[in-house]
Amino acid sequence: MISAVLPTYNRAPLAFVRGEGSWLVSDTGERYLDLGAGIAVNALGHAHPDLVATLTDQAHRLWHVSNLYRIPEQERLAAMLVERTFADTVFFTNSGTESAELAIKMARRFWYDQGQTARTEIIAFEGAFHGRSTGAIAAAGSEKMVKGFGPLMPGFVHLPWGDHEALKAAVGPATAAILIEPVQGEGGIRPLADACLRGLRQICDDTGTLLIFDEVQCGMGRTGRLFAHEWAGVTPDIMMVAKGIGGGFPLGAVLATERAAAPMVAGTHGSTYGGNPLGCAVGARVVEIVSDPAFLAEVNRKAAIFRQRLEGLVAAHPDVFEAVRGQGLMLGLKCRAPNTDVVKAGYAQHLLTVPAADNVLRLLPALNIPDEDLAEAVARLDRVAAQVGRDAAA
Ligand SMILES: *Cc1c(COP(=O)(O)O)cnc(C)c1O
Repeated sequence: MISAVLPTYNRAPLAFVRGEGSWLVSDTGERYLDLGAGIAVNALGHAHPDLVATLTDQAHRLWHVSNLYRIPEQERLAAMLVERTFADTVFFTNSGTESAELAIKMARRFWYDQGQTARTEIIAFEGAFHGRSTGAIAAAGSEKMVKGFGPLMPGFVHLPWGDHEALKAAVGPATAAILIEPVQGEGGIRPLADACLRGLRQICDDTGTLLIFDEVQCGMGRTGRLFAHEWAGVTPDIMMVAKGIGGGFPLGAVLATERAAAPMVAGTHGSTYGGNPLGCAVGARVVEIVSDPAFLAEVNRKAAIFRQRLEGLVAAHPDVFEAVRGQGLMLGLKCRAPNTDVVKAGYAQHLLTVPAADNVLRLLPALNIPDEDLAEAVARLDRVAAQVGRDAAA
């Protein structure tokens, strides 16, 4: 008999009832060290006192009014994002998937508005993940995600990851936009080289093509800058954000330049919940904390220590791990043993990690994880690797 909850997930047999910082407490009272942060969502860990206070304070005043009215909390968060990024304007969503939908619509509407109605194609990349809506699965295009869900939304072209020449050849008069994650998350923590990001921007500048960055996973301080593209010194025309921006409250956003967003006039897009006072109040507190240069400096300091220790683990367990990849606190251990075996062995050591494609183990701790918790994480990963190595040899 089918479970009461639609069984679309492969769930671990764990249930958590409480969280504190980088720790989760199970329904049996056991403490787990959380290196997944709800897949890069709990950017400030669990039950961060400031976020709890902001959320409860807002909850006592106002939850929802709809976008029929001005929403001061939304206006404030939008102004903060505009001040801190390339963007001139922001639309709020509730998830990364919804941000993908608007990014696609905005790119197509841009060319429609210019009278270039045939310019509808969006170039995306192998290994990409943009969400689970019909548009987002068509954009990513992987067999696993699209099988049986056709007919798919047309107009997406898929190219190999990091192949500049293929990209140059693919951009033509029908190309509306290029859609890319500066660091692929689900695809296995694959950062695009800074030179490639600059090359992308150049191609877009030369051809007028819009550049869309999906920073749903790699944004919001995850790589050690507020947004990952800042490392390369290039900016997109449109950017998708979600995951970390709500610190655990469902919140997403699409940021855009005035030029790219100009056709999105009243009536062209909307959302009932998007930009509600609760989500925006919490989001503003997250942005305030994470965008502080001192906070980001700490992320980079922690990341350097963590990375160095992970390199040590790879050297100590060459039968289990192959390499460290990623940037900031968006790190991946490319595995030799099956990554899912490593994740499972982690549960036995009360350590939570997340698998990704390309046989990678994702490590996405809270950005404010204390140094002692990082040290504990490395000690547990060492025991996990030893166990996986023993199991493989047995
Ligand atoms: C998670 C993710 C999405 C989808 O976000 P949801 O909130 O699950 O809809 C889109 N793009 C990237 C890069 C993601 O990591």
